[in-house]
Amino acid sequence: MKVLKFGGTSVANPENINRVKAIVQNSNAKKVAVVVSAFGGITDLLLNTSHLASNQDLSYKKGLKEIEDKHIEAIRELIPVQAQSTILSKVKSDLNVLETLLEGSFLIGELTPKLSDKIVSYGELLSSFIISEFFKTDGLDAEFKDSRQLITTDEKYGNANVNVEKTYSNCNTYFEKAKHRITVLPGFVASSSSGNSTTLGRGGSDYTAAIIAAAQEADILEIWTDVSGMFTANPKLVKQAKCVSNISYEEAMELSHFGAKVLYPPTIQPVLSKEIPIVIKNTFKPEDEGTYIAKNNNGNGKTVRGISHVGNISLLSLEGPGMIGVPGISKRFFETLSLENISVVLITQASSEHSICVGISDEDVEKAIEAVNTAFDYEIASTKIKPVLVEKDLAIVALVGDNMKSHQGLSGKMFSTLGKNNVNIRAIAQGASERNISAVITKTDVKKALNSLHEEFFEENIKQLNLFVMGVGNVGSKFLNQIKQQKKYLKEELKLNVRVIGISNSRTMTFDEDGISLKDWETTLANGQKADKEAFFKTVKTLNYRNSVFVDNTASGQVSESYPDYLKNSISVVTCNKIACSSDYDYYRKLKQLAKQYNSPFLFETNVGAGLPIIDTLKHLIASGDKVKKIQAVLSGSLNFVFNNFNDSVTFHDIVKQAQEEGYTEPDPTIDLSGIDVMRKILILARESGNQLDIEQIENDAFLPKESLETNSNEAFFESLKKNEVTFQKLFKEAKDVDSKLKYVAQFENGKAKVGLQRIPKGHDFYNLEGSDNIVLFYTERYPNQPLIIKGAGAGAEVTASGIFADIIRIGNF
Ligand code: ADP
Ligand code: ASP
Ligand code: MG
Repeated sequence: MKVLKFGGTSVANPENINRVKAIVQNSNAKKVAVVVSAFGGITDLLLNTSHLASNQDLSYKKGLKEIEDKHIEAIRELIPVQAQSTILSKVKSDLNVLETLLEGSFLIGELTPKLSDKIVSYGELLSSFIISEFFKTDGLDAEFKDSRQLITTDEKYGNANVNVEKTYSNCNTYFEKAKHRITVLPGFVASSSSGNSTTLGRGGSDYTAAIIAAAQEADILEIWTDVSGMFTANPKLVKQAKCVSNISYEEAMELSHFGAKVLYPPTIQPVLSKEIPIVIKNTFKPEDEGTYIAKNNNGNGKTVRGISHVGNISLLSLEGPGMIGVPGISKRFFETLSLENISVVLITQASSEHSICVGISDEDVEKAIEAVNTAFDYEIASTKIKPVLVEKDLAIVALVGDNMKSHQGLSGKMFSTLGKNNVNIRAIAQGASERNISAVITKTDVKKALNSLHEEFFEENIKQLNLFVMGVGNVGSKFLNQIKQQKKYLKEELKLNVRVIGISNSRTMTFDEDGISLKDWETTLANGQKADKEAFFKTVKTLNYRNSVFVDNTASGQVSESYPDYLKNSISVVTCNKIACSSDYDYYRKLKQLAKQYNSPFLFETNVGAGLPIIDTLKHLIASGDKVKKIQAVLSGSLNFVFNNFNDSVTFHDIVKQAQEEGYTEPDPTIDLSGIDVMRKILILARESGNQLDIEQIENDAFLPKESLETNSNEAFFESLKKNEVTFQKLFKEAKDVDSKLKYVAQFENGKAKVGLQRIPKGHDFYNLEGSDNIVLFYTERYPNQPLIIKGAGAGAEVTASGIFADIIRIGNF
């Protein structure tokens, strides 16, 4: 005999029920028991409707109507017209009883657990009856059997306990005599010995099927559902989750206990004792192999087999000096909870015996506080014990695997992974069987925790980086294109899965939780919502992805003020915007400090020398114990471009214009020409070398006439350049006369920084600097006479974008 169970989604509509029929038809056993759930969504609807009725809310009638329609429609679609009338009349009579029950609840304004069970049982009773009639009229050798006549329970309504002996004997009697190959039965429902309808707990149809399988010593129990098996984590929350093909009963039980809803936890027990294998299959992809659950089936020594979670948990702690060495406190604590029917999901006790802490379901909290505080009122009044402490809105994540006990370091790896991703752990428990390690965390961190742990334990070291990009001008758009081009390489060679989740410019912004397609991001962005910096941050925060990176490609001061918000939420910041690092020293320090505190890198390599590895090199020098004595540099790609191309046959105005058009200057060219940009850069290098310095302390020997410096628009600025051509030509001639070239040089030595135009003679390191190149000479303790030199293209969108890219990869390797 085979037992097949079909869940709510599998029987949600006539189309799906036809799939179910095909699966049942193809199953080759001599006898088949088919256990079905209520049509998808009906159980919830019955529960909601009955609550409305008992709250004397007339809108319960709407729910009732929806329930009626769904079942009548199913009959009309599945059953041939000539056979419909008897079936319709039976179903309508059931629906009338349901209506009467709801009306009763409405009139009295009450819903006892007993009445609730009676009402909710109609979901399964109706679905199984309709499906059995459909099978019959469609030529299957089938009959209907009401599980309430087989499964006997106590009267713990809502979650009744099965009388195993009686139930098995009822099943044997029935199946011995059953004449038809297929029996269709309602899941979830049962009855007490006095004949009242009871239910086996939410998700209980799996259990019904297991009980029948065990009673009949079936060859196999097949659970047909809407996923292709038991996954390494809930596939709805972890996209990368994989189906586990083989798993032991104990592992499956542990995973389901900690929230893998695909199997109702009590299901395993009956089949385990008879060693009946369970297979979990997908109704919508019957060809998929599924998961095979059996004895000692724990996958060739693999350690962690799955990760699961239970949401809506609260922690209840009892603590106080009066607990130390006093026997019986734990017993009283647990007895109190048990008397209130509160189930304890997790327990931890500090070895000092100073406190006991348990995880319970959120919905039991009020009841628990009241009961525990009453039970310990004497100790509380005499301050031996504190009133019970409660923390709500938590969740448990658990790693599960039979072989975890023989492996060291798993809990270390688990907690460091959570820590790195800034998931705060509130409590920890490890089962004595060492089959699971659980951590209590904040509910809002669940998705991040599951995904980080999954990445760590199952994804062959592929690390996902989730980017939120603000600013898609010259640099930003090149950056996105580079990512598009390199995505495959990064994944295959560097094991980095880089996804762009959000993009914004000053007009619009767009998000895609699965990653924005970079093929046509321009259109997606143009069709996005109105841009808003605060809303952008809020979305990044709410999405709460692991390894989130905020990429600032703007030159905006306002945007740079938002970095602390990102860093404090463990979101790394990568930026080519120099404002933050060159603003107040205190702000710069604060950002560095936050980055350290929240484990969220703050990288700005492109602030100096675009894509050249200047800051990174400096960091390595310092980290290895070197000390910077002097820095000499030409740091403005824009000014270099200007002075390399300027001579007595062109105008200064035209060259600056060309630099701007070719993307070598900041959007506001005065920032470059006034020397401010160079001041910012040398300031950042001085700070990164370990010096406390502010921009006002830097000497700037500006070459621009005052008039040009004071313009307040780009047009006015260019106009003033035209007017002052003579001044610029004079600068050129003075240099030419001494066989020198003009270079805008930055220098830092003995705690002092200065910038300005200098005449560089032939033979100097700076003399042959081409185009927009930058050069930095680091004189350090280890490089005292011959400096460490970094030289190359120091401006331009393409190289700046690749510098940002390099920072992203650094975060990937972090
Ligand atoms: P049914 O109605 O068929 O009984 P359920 O909704 O009870 O189906 O269970 C299937 C669901 O369990 C899946 O759709 C999935 O969202 C959830 N689930 C949670 N954890 C896991 C897991 N580890 N593997 C597979 N599914 C899981
Ligand atoms: N219909 C019930 C529920 O939704 C039982 C089940 O589907 O397993 O909980
Ligand atoms: Mg289920």
